[in-house]
Amino acid sequence: MTGEELLRSRGLRVTRPRLAVLEVLAAGGHLEVEEITQRVRERLDSVSTQAIYDVLGALSRAGLSRRIEPAGSPARYEARVGDNHHHVVCRGCGEIADVDCAVGSAPCLDPVAAYGFEVDEAEVTYWGLCPSCQVRRATDD
Ligand SMILES: [Zn+2]
Ligand SMILES: [Zn+2]
Ligand SMILES: [Zn+2]
Repeated sequence: MTGEELLRSRGLRVTRPRLAVLEVLAAGGHLEVEEITQRVRERLDSVSTQAIYDVLGALSRAGLSRRIEPAGSPARYEARVGDNHHHVVCRGCGEIADVDCAVGSAPCLDPVAAYGFEVDEAEVTYWGLCPSCQVRRATDD
């Protein structure tokens, strides 16, 4: 689907900033607002940081982007939505990678006891050291 089709499919008006943000997110990764703003500015002449926040809010509410906020890190946004995947975060450098739900299709969304809640997200964050930080640690010793 093109960006325009994605926006229309969620009943969102098609605007150049929304298309640009979708394009930036589609390139992959978990991006901070600052990085997204920089990359959008390479495509559009002038766009305020506030406008980017507004776009990200609209896209997230419409289910076109996902916001994650690991402890100690600014909010990050990604285009991979709808699969409740998890993240592994490096304690050394903050690097983030995607991790699929452990077994089958989003088993974490079926908690052992949900107390009548309708669950739509299970936030699981794995913490550790990425390969390059492990090398750095080994050579620091
Ligand atoms: Zn690291
Ligand atoms: Zn992710
Ligand atoms: Zn899971």
